[in-house]
Parts: sequence; structure tokens; C-alpha cells
Amino acid sequence: MDRKSLFDKLAAHGVRGLQPYVPGKPIDELEREHGITQSIKLASNENPLGPPASALRAINAVASQLALYPDGSGYALKQALAEHFAIDPTCLTLGNGSNDILVLLAESFLTSAVEVVFDQYSFVVYRLAAQAADAVIQVARSNPADHAQPYGHDLGAFKALLTDRTRMIFIANPNNPTGTWVSADELYAFLKEVPAHTIVVVDEAYAEYVSCDGYPNALSWLEQFPNLVITRTFSKIYGLAGLRVGYAISHPDLAEILNRVRQPFNVNSLAQVAAIAALADQKFVQRARALNQSGLTELTDAFSGMGLTVMPSIGNFVLVDFGRPAAPVYEALLRAGIIVRPVANYGLPNHLRITVGLPEQNQRIIATLRKVLETHQ
Ligand SMILES: *Cc1c(COP(=O)(O)O)cnc(C)c1O
Repeated sequence: MDRKSLFDKLAAHGVRGLQPYVPGKPIDELEREHGITQSIKLASNENPLGPPASALRAINAVASQLALYPDGSGYALKQALAEHFAIDPTCLTLGNGSNDILVLLAESFLTSAVEVVFDQYSFVVYRLAAQAADAVIQVARSNPADHAQPYGHDLGAFKALLTDRTRMIFIANPNNPTGTWVSADELYAFLKEVPAHTIVVVDEAYAEYVSCDGYPNALSWLEQFPNLVITRTFSKIYGLAGLRVGYAISHPDLAEILNRVRQPFNVNSLAQVAAIAALADQKFVQRARALNQSGLTELTDAFSGMGLTVMPSIGNFVLVDFGRPAAPVYEALLRAGIIVRPVANYGLPNHLRITVGLPEQNQRIIATLRKVLETHQ
């Protein structure tokens, strides 16, 4: 018996069938492999503006204190978030990215005796966290391709899967990789139907990008629904993905549970000060939102003009349907120095997810894709 299969046997039950998360290809790796330069990455929904200058200044100011452990309670960042949202700091849990929060939720509440519900095309970390905890996974069928929210969450399908054992539901709003969303009316009606023993996690990683009417203010429902948990991040519009900082907003009693499982120093000191500075820098956020809005329209119009089907998105990315396997297009873009995201692992082999970039980056992918499609006819 080889070593892998031995350890595979020794691994915890939920870990045995686990496939590791596949991140977007790093620029360095692409350039090393292809011997090219001047590449761009539109693969991981990162902020093309980079980090806010205010956050970099805050990092420099505390760098000399790196010999000290961070504040394990994240006092100052929680105060800043509490003020920003007009909530009590006891509602907050800080995480090493919101991914950490999703895992903390799974570790705290899931066992092999309970069920988890999420959408067929939703963010893959829900599956990873639930599977590692050995929970029973119930996958809700997505909206059909011709729906107004193609491949989006169908909360009716979620509801049909609820049982006495459903301990947790994950709703990505907007969802990654589809860019689709559920409205305030839909979500509110759904929350009213969910029993108290089922925790509803609403993942709002892209919420700050959203400007459409009807998008829920889930925060305003926390008092009415103590089983509601909202997750947010500094990785997307705040431009701090490399630092790893996110948070949950929930009932204080639920936050107290997460705090038992949380590593004592899960958010490092540079991340804490940078997040405080970024949160105060709402001018940066507005700039990023405006830039994204125009870029989203530009990409959507251009790709549609090439005869491709572009899913409507309210995030900082678009899901594009090539109507045939997208892998050759992905490879051709790589050779031209552009990294986008294949989503075959989501069951969408004909699609690519493309992050909105700076205007010149958007121009480059539009021009390159046009050429690629002409040569791959
Ligand atoms: C990017 C993303 C996250 C957050 O990632 P972190 O960097 O860990 O905060 C969470 N949910 C969704 C749907 C995402 O796309």
C-alpha cells in the first residue's frame, strides 16, 4: 500500500474525499512557465486599483512592532466596524479572510449528524468547509440558464431541502462565480420560513460593489432573525486580499461560539491596522465602485457584441458562456499574458469568469479575446 492511500485511510472521514481549493493562477507562475512579461490577472476578483494608500501608510506605521503578537480581540478594528455599521462590537467576529469565518462556522456547528444546504453553482468554499466537517451536503438546484438570474440561487429549491437536521444554509449574495443575486423580498420571505435551529449564512463578499435597487440590507434583519450571519471581507473592494481579513456580523451569542473555535491570533497586526484605515477611506471605496461600474458595462457590452452570452453580474466580475468548452480559450488567453478563471470545477466547462480590471486592462482582454475567437472559429 503506498503512503498516500495509507494516510488517506488515516484521515478524518470528511477529509478523505476532499479536493483542495484551486486558486487563480499567480502572475509569477504564468510568466515563469511561458517566459513572458507584462501579464495581467483578471482571475481572482481582486481590486485592480491595488490597496488604498491609506492602508499602506497604516502598515508602515506599525511595522516596527512586528515582534509583538497582534491584539487577539481585534479591539480597535471591531470598534471601527461597529461604528461604521452602527452595531454593537459583540456582534462581530474577525477572520483570516472571510474564508476563515466560513470554516469557523462549519467547525462550530457542523457534524456528520447534520445537513448543510447550498446552491449548485455557489462559492466552492461552502462545500469544502462542510465536507471537512463531515456534514451531509444537500445541493439546491440553481435557476435555469434562461432565468433572469441565470444559474442563480433558487430559494424555493433551498426551502424544499430543509429538514429537522438542516443546521446551516449558505447564500452568496451576490454569488461567485455567477454574479447573480437574491432580492430583499426573496431573502426576507425565505428567512421567515427557516426554523430557528438552522443558521443562515449570507456571504456578502461583494456587497460594497452593489448599487442596484432591491438588494437586501440584511444587516437590518439581524434582530429579527438571530440565526442570520452576514459575512464580509476586506479582500474585494477594499483591496487587501493579500492581508487576509474578513468578518462576520451575527447575534452576540453566535459570535461567542465562533470565538471559542477561533485561533487566538487569527488576524495579524498589519491586517488589523490596514483594515481600519481602509474602512475609513470611503473615498477609495467610491472610486473603486465607480471604476467597476463602468468596467462591468464595458466588458458586458463588448463580450455580448462578440456573440458570447454574458451573465448579468452585480459584482466585480462577469461569467461568460462560450457555448463550447472554454479551456482552449483560457489557454490562448494565458499565452497572450492574460489570466482569467476557468470554472469547470463548478460544473461550468463552457464558461470563464473574468474580473473587471482597469480601463486599459479591460481594453486588452477585449482586443485579445476578439483575436482568439477569430483564430479559434
Ligand atoms: C472572495 C470571496 C470570499 C472571500 O474571501 P476572503 O479573501 O477569504 O475574505 C468569500 N465569499 C465569496 C463568495 C467570495 O467570492
